[in-house]
Parts: sequence; structure tokens; C-alpha cells
Amino acid sequence: MGRTWHILGAGSLGGLWAARLYRAGIPLRIILRNQERLADYQGAGGLTLVENQGSILYPVPAERPDAAAPIARLLVACKAYDAQAAIAEVAPRLVEGAEILLLQNGLGSQQAVAARWPDSHCVLVSSTEGAYRQAGWRIVHAGQGQNWLGTLGHDHAPAWLADLDAAGIPFAWTDAIMSKLWRKLAINCAINPLSVLYDCRNGALLAHRAELLEICAELNAVLRACDQGAAAEGLAEEVFRVIEATANNYCSMHQDVRSGRRTEVGFLLGQACRTAQAQGLDVPKLNALLDQLQALLRQRGLPED
Ligand code: NAP
Repeated sequence: MGRTWHILGAGSLGGLWAARLYRAGIPLRIILRNQERLADYQGAGGLTLVENQGSILYPVPAERPDAAAPIARLLVACKAYDAQAAIAEVAPRLVEGAEILLLQNGLGSQQAVAARWPDSHCVLVSSTEGAYRQAGWRIVHAGQGQNWLGTLGHDHAPAWLADLDAAGIPFAWTDAIMSKLWRKLAINCAINPLSVLYDCRNGALLAHRAELLEICAELNAVLRACDQGAAAEGLAEEVFRVIEATANNYCSMHQDVRSGRRTEVGFLLGQACRTAQAQGLDVPKLNALLDQLQALLRQRGLPED
């Protein structure tokens, strides 16, 4: 058994990881943002994981960001726009060479964290598991999937992956984590903004085939311009496969907008548009999509990034 895991943010994915590590006997603590959240959590008696039609309460120990114990392994399970500020609150506790696992969707937040805490060792995670939160610290394990892990430096698989094995958390170590993250970002850019703008389930996007193909062609060019040719391979075909497989679902961005929650657009379509600009690529369709989406977010009183 390795070092203690600290999980920053016990939301959907953080809670899912915490419950599984805890029940496997792996030492861990979750870090909640303040005393009020901690008291609320303690009142609930722990995290409840709902899966396979059953639910179990796990009394995972929790603490505030300013607790005393040093942190050697930190799983950051906040949204991309919260990650840096949340880590800053526990940064004085990080030991030199601490591992920081970053679960954030999209790109941009991981690079910012790696640059701001250069003495740490960042591991990037691309997750296709699905979870959502209900009131009262209940986490619903909604979809099976995979967690791809890797580093920007292409290091070897670390020994602590044995903890994930013990906890039954699906994972694979990869030398190509950037490719996984870019591919997921591109699929998200093709599907999510359109589903928000047309206010529809994924399946209804099949009526906008030409527009999807135009978006995929520009995303393809962005990926190739930043040396992500493998992530560009067969992109449009996969986008249509994902749309068909999730035809009845509303995508996460649609759910966020409908619930009045901030989206991660700045780390998804925003990141694709910024990358295109940095590469001197003309992507009029992506830029127009971002403009329309940001106008809608402004209208709803939500942040544009
Ligand atoms: P979430 O349910 O909103 O959870 C985020 C958690 O971060 C919340 O519990 C929040 O605390 C906490 N947090 C924010 N700032 C904090 C701070 N300063 N200190 C401590 N905790 C803080 O989000 P999520 O769905 O798990 O998503 C996390 C990341 O995983 C996102 O980038 C998402 O795109 C990615 N992802 C999610 C899924 C999924 O199925 N959910 C799948 C793949 C990828 P409060 O409870 O106090 O607000």
C-alpha cells in the first residue's frame, strides 16, 4: 500500500474515486473547500455511492485545505476553471516532488498547474467514466468507462497504480495522454456547443450533418497543426458514432447551461480557437460557434469562459 491520497473536491468524479479507494482500504482524505462544507459533510456521515441499483455510505475522512498533514499525492477533482485556485489553497502542504493527478476535462488547466508548481509531478487523466451528484453527498456512478493516465514527460507507469487496481478503478497508463485529451476535446467541441445552440439531445444533431462535417474539418486542421495527427485520424466518423451511441442523452454542457452552472467552454472550444490562432490557422466556423455560444451564455448570466 502506498502513500495517503488526498482528494481535492468531493464532487461527482472526486466522490466516485474516493468511495472506491476507501472501500479497498487505501488511506485517503478528502479536502473540502471550507468549514461550512466540512460540517455539512460530517452531518451526512460520509459519501454515499449509488451504483448497481444499491447505495452504500462510506465514512471517508475529510478535512479543510488548511489541515496540517503534508500532501504527497493529490487528486484534483475540481472543474478546470477551479483547479488552480483550489490547489493554491493546499500548496503550502505539498511536499517536494508531490504527485498531482489532474482529472480535468479539456486542456489548458493542466499546463497552467504544471507551470505554477514545477516542483510537483503532474499526472494527467482523461476519464470517460460518468458520475453525477445528488443532494446530501450522494454520488451516482452513471457510466462505465476508462481512465487514461500519463505525463507530459512520458514517464514510466508508477508503482502506485496498484492502488487503482486494488480499488477496481479502470485505468490504463499511456505515453500518449495529450493525444487522448485532444481527441476528447475535439469530440466535445463538435457535439457540445451545437447541442446547446440547437437546445437538443445528441441524436438530433444528425439533422445537421453538413455543419458537423465542417466543424470536424476545422478541428482536424487544428489537431494536425499542433502535432496531434493521431487524434485527428477518423475524427468525423467517431463524432457520428458517439452521437449515435448517446442519441438520447443531453451532453454535459447542455446540462450545465440548463441548470445555470458554469461550463468549461474556455478549456474546450475556447482552447481549440486559441490554439488555432496561435498556429495562424483560419477557423471561421469554430470562431463563429464560440461567438454564438458565448452570446448565449451572456444572455443566461453565465461566465463566457
Ligand atoms: P463537480 O461534480 O462539480 O465537482 C467538483 C468539485 O470540486 C465540487 O465538489 C466542488 O466543491 C469542488 N471544489 C471546487 N473548488 C474547490 C476548492 N477550492 N476546494 C475544495 N473543493 C473544491 O465536477 P465533476 O463532474 O466531478 O468534474 C470534475 C472534472 O472532471 C471536470 O473537469 C469534468 O469535466 C471532468 N469529468 C467529469 C465527468 C463526470 O462524469 N462527472 C466525466 C469525465 C470528466 P463544492 O461541492 O463545495 O462546490
